[in-house]
Amino acid sequence: METLATERVIIVGAGLGALYAALALAPHPVLMISPDPLGEGASSAWAQGGVAAAMAAPDSPEAHAIDTIRAGAGTVDPEVAAAVTAAARRHILDLTDLGTPFDRTAEGGYVLSREAAHSMARVVRVKGDQAGAEIMRALALQVRAAPSIQVMEGVMASGLLVRDGRVAGVELMLAAGGASEPVRLEGPAVLLAGGGSGGLYAVTTNPPRICGQAIGLAARAGAVIADAEFVQFHPTAIDVGHDPAPLATEALRGEGAVLLNHAGIRFMAGAHPDAELAPRDVVARAVFAEGQAGRRPVLDTRAVLGGAILSSFPAVAQACLSAGIDPVTQPIPVAAAAHYHIGGAETDRHGRSSLPGLWVCGEASSTGLHGANRLASNGLLEALVYGCSCAADIASCLPSAAQAPEVSLPPLGAAPPPGPQLVRRLRLAMTAGAGVIRDAQGLRRALREIAAVEAAQPGCRPLLNMTATATLIVAAALLREESRGAHFRSDFPRPAAEIGTRSRMTLAEALAVRDEAVQASSIAAITQR
Ligand SMILES: Cc1cc2nc3c(=O)[nH]c(=O)nc-3n(C[C@H](O)[C@H](O)[C@H](O)COP(=O)(O)OP(=O)(O)OC[C@H]3O[C@@H](n4cnc5c(N)ncnc54)[C@H](O)[C@@H]3O)c2cc1C
Repeated sequence: METLATERVIIVGAGLGALYAALALAPHPVLMISPDPLGEGASSAWAQGGVAAAMAAPDSPEAHAIDTIRAGAGTVDPEVAAAVTAAARRHILDLTDLGTPFDRTAEGGYVLSREAAHSMARVVRVKGDQAGAEIMRALALQVRAAPSIQVMEGVMASGLLVRDGRVAGVELMLAAGGASEPVRLEGPAVLLAGGGSGGLYAVTTNPPRICGQAIGLAARAGAVIADAEFVQFHPTAIDVGHDPAPLATEALRGEGAVLLNHAGIRFMAGAHPDAELAPRDVVARAVFAEGQAGRRPVLDTRAVLGGAILSSFPAVAQACLSAGIDPVTQPIPVAAAAHYHIGGAETDRHGRSSLPGLWVCGEASSTGLHGANRLASNGLLEALVYGCSCAADIASCLPSAAQAPEVSLPPLGAAPPPGPQLVRRLRLAMTAGAGVIRDAQGLRRALREIAAVEAAQPGCRPLLNMTATATLIVAAALLREESRGAHFRSDFPRPAAEIGTRSRMTLAEALAVRDEAVQASSIAAITQR
């Protein structure tokens, strides 16, 4: 395998965390690895609701932190929540300066949406449901114009280089078609900003590229992964058989839209004092239960929005119309879908992972902000805060910025991508065994399926990244014998205590759990003969 070297900071990914960090690192030279054309393929560009931030009285960072801690079901790190919520306003002002056209009031303030489990309207938005697309458009323009940032499109990371316990660079492959023979690229620092894991599930709101690659990269290099079992399911993915499932943003429920079943019963009304605005895990389980019982849950926006949905929530309206549903006159069919991976590579307040040389930000990281249940619209905020922290810390570890030549890769040869049937099998196994409601039997079955998928295409690095992340999610879910936040076990339906502990696991530890599940099933098969 050919090895190249660069003086540029290597940023893996091109979502919000990556773009914001690259700009904050300027003038330090950066190489950004973007599998798709810049701005595409990232969850960031699909975000609808916006960014949570206490922008003005009567709101305050303290109130925002309290809501974050309460939603997080006993495992939020209060220092992290205090620091992130205190920084939020500054980053919104920064995004505004960088060209994001946030919705403004006649008086010049920010229009704020109300979302579930927030004690007040606190989410800054753009053109109703266009926050992600517009923030990314503004930042991508800045990145393109920054002389310090080289964007390499069409290439993905397939592995991390580890030398003497330190991350020393990345292995790169062609992204199109899934894979190629890798080249090694060494660099002074690696920032992993490769997003979450939704695509590991058969029903997800995430773009196809977001399928556990980044967490798998960190895990295979030996990094500690925290809170892997906490996968947040969004209660109102639009259920029209599309993959990925389009999202009906929570802001619709903030506007007063209600959830009904096929009998017209508003099933959240008796389920929680906050009804449709209960914490996301509560609503997701209720929607899932209605769906499982064949009661076809729908989100009804007609009374509160009527025709205004077309202009106020254009992405939602368009997704409905393209599936033959007129949201002005019809309720929207909904299902719970894998949406956000709370767990990830464990990082400290600077965004440093457990491996020297590797920083992680955004959804690929686990900072302790979200606990067991992310508060709505804290995801983009975390990517901003830690993208910035990582940039500052990386810059402080490197010699002062100097110009560096652009990296030019040799022609990359082709190699087979992950088999589509295997990927499908993996995704179905995750939805069936490690979905909204879990139990030990289903989790063990999922571990065996993951092992079988991995064995069916040995040496395929992108597939190994996916199975590594899947193994960590399921192993951590099996070991957490309680229900907490987004992690619900039907065989352990209550939290073990009010305050919980975060999980930490290496891939080697997760593989030991998987091996045990595989061996137990082999022994059972032999004794049954
Ligand atoms: C439909 C939807 C709506 C959402 N709405 C909101 C919202 O309103 N508010 C909120 O706070 N959060 C929202 N979220 C969550 C939020 O969008 C994400 O958590 C956030 O954008 C993550 O940013 P990121 O930079 O970490 O990752 P991403 O934006 O997902 O970017 C990851 C990048 O890594 C790249 N990548 C992947 N694999 C590799 C690889 N192997 N090598 C190199 N690059 C790789 C991808 O191509 C992409 O460029 C939403 C998510 C979805 C899916």
